[in-house]
Parts: sequence; C-alpha cells; structure tokens
Amino acid sequence: MRNFRNKSGLKRHILIVEDEPINREILSNLLETDYIVHTAENGREALDILDSGEYIFSLALVDLLMPVMDGFELIRSIKDNDSLKSIPVIVMTSEKSAEVKSIRMGAADFITKPYDMPEVILARCERIIELQEDKSIIHGAERDTLTGLYTRDFFTEYIKQLEKYYPGQPSEIIVINVDHFHLVNELYGRKQGDRVLIHIGMVLTELLEETAGIACRTDADNFYIYCNSSPDYEDILSRIKARLSSTIESSNIKLRMGVYKDIDKNEMVENWLDRAKIACDQIRGDYSRQIEYYNKELYERAKYNERLINDIDDAISSKNLIVYYQPKYYIQSDQPRLQSAEALIRWKHPELGMISPGDFIPLFESNGLIQKLDEYVWKEAARQINKWKEKYGFTVPVSVNVSRMEIYQPELQNNFLKMLEENSLTSKELLLEITESAYSENSDQLIEIVDKLRDAGFKIEMDDFGSGYSSLNMLTSIPIDALKMDMKFIRNMQKDEKSMKLVEMVLEIARFLQVPVIAEGVETETQLKLLKERGCEIIQGYYFSKPVPPEEFEQFIIKEISKN
Ligand code: C2E
Ligand code: CA
Ligand code: CA
Repeated sequence: MRNFRNKSGLKRHILIVEDEPINREILSNLLETDYIVHTAENGREALDILDSGEYIFSLALVDLLMPVMDGFELIRSIKDNDSLKSIPVIVMTSEKSAEVKSIRMGAADFITKPYDMPEVILARCERIIELQEDKSIIHGAERDTLTGLYTRDFFTEYIKQLEKYYPGQPSEIIVINVDHFHLVNELYGRKQGDRVLIHIGMVLTELLEETAGIACRTDADNFYIYCNSSPDYEDILSRIKARLSSTIESSNIKLRMGVYKDIDKNEMVENWLDRAKIACDQIRGDYSRQIEYYNKELYERAKYNERLINDIDDAISSKNLIVYYQPKYYIQSDQPRLQSAEALIRWKHPELGMISPGDFIPLFESNGLIQKLDEYVWKEAARQINKWKEKYGFTVPVSVNVSRMEIYQPELQNNFLKMLEENSLTSKELLLEITESAYSENSDQLIEIVDKLRDAGFKIEMDDFGSGYSSLNMLTSIPIDALKMDMKFIRNMQKDEKSMKLVEMVLEIARFLQVPVIAEGVETETQLKLLKERGCEIIQGYYFSKPVPPEEFEQFIIKEISKN
C-alpha cells in the first residue's frame, strides 16, 4: 500500500497547530519532506482551515496551551464534527498530566516537548496515519488468495481513500478479461485455468511495481487496474500473452481489455468499474479487437441491452414477439413457385417500438437467452405450418434459424420431434438453418449432430454461406441439404466481373455438393434474371416480399394455390 503512495509521489496534508513560532518552524522542517504541511497559530485558526474543506487532512499535530482557542477545545470541536472526526490528532505536550485527559477526548498519540528525536516523530506520524487509513479500509478479506491481488471490496475502498486524498489526480480504470474463460477450464481443467489466472496476476503485480497503481481480481477472470497515468495497453496485453505462452500449453487464449478514461468523478467508484467492464464486454468474442474504450454510446447501448434482457420474458408471455414469414421462391420453372418460407422474429415493444432482430439476437446469443427465444419461434412456426395446412390443405415448409449455441443442446432433436408431434407435422415440413460460421467453429461435433438430425428426416440449410471460413475440404464432409448464399454476394454481384465470378463459384460448389442454392437478399428483377441464367434455383428477398406477419403471408399461399 505504501508503495503506491511513495511511487506516485503523492503527499498527504497535515496540520501543525502551535503558537510558538520556533516550534512550528522545527516541526515544519522536519515533516515537509514527507507531507504537505499547513500551520495554524491557535485552535480557532486551525478550525477555520479544517472547516474550509479545501484539503483533506491526514493528521493534526496539536499543542495544548495556546491563546484564543486551546488544544483541548480544538480536539473537542474536531471530534464533535462528523466530517472532521476521522482526522487523527497527535497532542504535543510537556505535561504528563495532560496526556490522560487528551486521550479521553480522542487524541491518538503524543509527542513530548522538548521534542523527541526527529525519526521518532516521523515514525509516529506515519504510524498514526496508517492506522487510521487501514481502519477505514479493512473489513473482509484484503487479498485474493489465488493471485495475491486485492479483492474487489478492498480495491474499491482503497480507490475511495486515494480519491479522497488526491481529488484532482487524473485516474483511470482498466479491466482485463479472459475471453470464454469457462472454456479454458473445461478444455484444460481447472488447475490449468487457475494457472492462467495466477500468471496474469503475476504480470500485473510486476507492472504495478513500475507504474503506480493497484489491481484486484473478481468474478474468476476479471482483473481491474486503477492507475494515475495511462500505461501502454498493448504492452500489458502482450506481456501477459508472452507469460502465458511460455508457461502453459494453451496458446489460443484470447484476452480483452476495457478502459475507462476521463472518469466522471461524480459517479460512484463501483460505476467506474462497471463502465470499464461495459467497454470490455463490447468486444467479447470479437477476434479482431482486443481493446475497447468506454464512451457515452456504449453506456446507452448497455442500458438499452439491460432493458431488453429485463423485458424478454414479458415479451414472450404477452406475445409482443411476433414471428414474420418471408417467402422463398423456386425460379427455374416458367413462373416462380412458392417453395417455403423463413421464420424471422420481430419484437413489437410497447414502449421502444419495433425492434429488429439485429438489435437483440446477438445480445441474446451472448448471454444464453437465445434458447428461450428460439424455442418460442420454433413452436410458433410449427403451429403456423399446421394452421395453414388445415386452412388451405397446403404445406408451406418453414425454415427456422438455429443459433450456434442451440445446436449443442442435448435435447435439441427431441424438442424438435416433440414439436412436430404436437402439431401433426413431419420432419420434412420444418427446415433448419444453421449459419456457416457454426460449422467452422467446432466442425466434428457439429457434423455428428447434423448427421443425426438428417437421419431423423430434417433438412438442413447452411445459412450465410460465404461469410464464414469453410474450407472446400470441409465442405465435402459436411452434411447439408441447401446452401443459402450470403446476401453480400448479391449486393456486389453487378459491381464488377470478379464479384459475379464469386457468385458463379458458389453455384459451382453447390452443384458439386449436389444441393440447391438459395439466394438471399434479391431485390431486383435484374438480379433474379442473372441468378436464374446461372442456374440458381431458389430466391428469397424483397423482390418477392419482405418478411410479413402470418395473416399477410396468406396472400402468397392463395396465389400459389390458384396457379395449379
Ligand atoms: P438471416 O437468417 O440471414 O435472415 C435474413 C435477413 O435478411 C432478415 O433480416 C431479412 O429480413 C433480411 N432480408 C431478406 N431479404 C432481404 C432483401 O432483399 N434485402 C435486404 N436488405 N434484407 C433482406 P432480419 O429479419 O432483420 O434478421 C436478421 C438476422 O437475425 C437473421 O439473419 C438471423 O440471423 C437473425 N434472426 C432473425 N430471426 C431469428 C430467430 O427467430 N432466431 C434466431 N436465432 N435468429 C434470428
Ligand atoms: Ca436465416
Ligand atoms: Ca442468411
């Protein structure tokens, strides 16, 4: 603790109250190397200085016999005043008898006159200040046993103390987090997980020896740093990485950092930490970035997200989540034929208005709430297919999106089968869309699951094809029934020849895999024509329709029936 104070070059304020000029002089000279010394000639003057609130005093050295207001009265006034009473007082006296009286009044220690050796006086001042500060800090555990860094409670208390003493000081909060730390534990074992944390702790300890600052660890893998000057953020991360790679096998650990600079000191310290964390969470799972800075928009975004998380249950129970349907048309016949539909969620929030899935799907994917939402959509879609079937005697197969984390749920297949049974459907009627990037993440396990789903009769469409990093080699071993070409191919198609070639390549790959291509995001007749000429079979996009509510979708069914 003292380390930080000394290194940061920050001095505490102390007040000497003494009427004899010569004594004031001696004491001032003695103490001013270590402290910022203020002096007063009597109790009254001392109270004025303390009351002004201009400085936070760590200690008052008080003579007892003074004109105007003596030391006893001054001590009484200090101890009776809520905002001053925590300032420790050392009494300076030559009378043994006065010691007892001043102790009773709350003095912390004595210095006898004529003055003790200078070292003794300095040591006493230092000890009293420390005692007082530790008294207000220590409750609960001070150190995290694993890393030796502070605990969160201690850390925040400590910051409050430092801020109290050095209010003008620039400061910032940095948080470092291990991305998907639970995976490190799962894949390499808890022991190895602990080692990762210990090594991060060691690097931070070394670092804080060099630059003034303090650090703590909380919630397993969050490391907070409080410091007074901006360190080299990249350097911190690369130091940790270097340490980790030289000590443990798992080199693919990803760290991310959130920085809260220009702290709003009117906010509570706890909020400072939250803000650094908000920035840090912003780049969770984003492999292209490892440092994010807090700003107002992030705060607004975090608040908004919090709102959405709070409201999701209500949205489900009050049916504010509505499943829209967008038709997919087979285009290689004389006239386009309705082939199927994609179920796409919409949130009609009673206060925030219409919210598009781009605003909440990634959020719910990151915190696991996607499971609730997806199951809701799947059930709704299954119910809807059956409803149309009964009403029109016509099946519109509907594809639902399966989030990447859903795929690994052990109950996934049974859930689907149960849903089908409840709505008298077969597995041919409910199609599943799985995004390409899910395949590249954990392909072996995924292939196994998808194989099983296909054995049970489900048709799998690979969504957003071309946005991920599937290798051609992997594609040949992947079990799929259709490729949904990523929208950006269509967007760029007419820009230049190269982009058109890419579209042709995707169609070529699909032909090789013997599966149809669904082109998403087709908006114009030209796009449709170009795709049709090149053999693309199915099209989904605004050219035919935007996603629409189920009542509106019925017009497509009616039109389709009339074609027969
Ligand atoms: P996606 O699965 O790739 O869905 C296609 C998106 O493209 C939809 O956006 C759709 O409205 C939009 N779109 C279709 N045709 C056109 C077009 O011609 N032009 C343009 N500009 N856009 C077109 P939406 O509905 O906003 O959904 C965005 C993403 O949110 C979806 O991308 C999907 O990843 C996710 N999502 C939507 N609903 C669900 C759901 O129920 N569950 C899950 N897990 N994800 C969903
Ligand atoms: Ca989709
Ligand atoms: Ca897509």
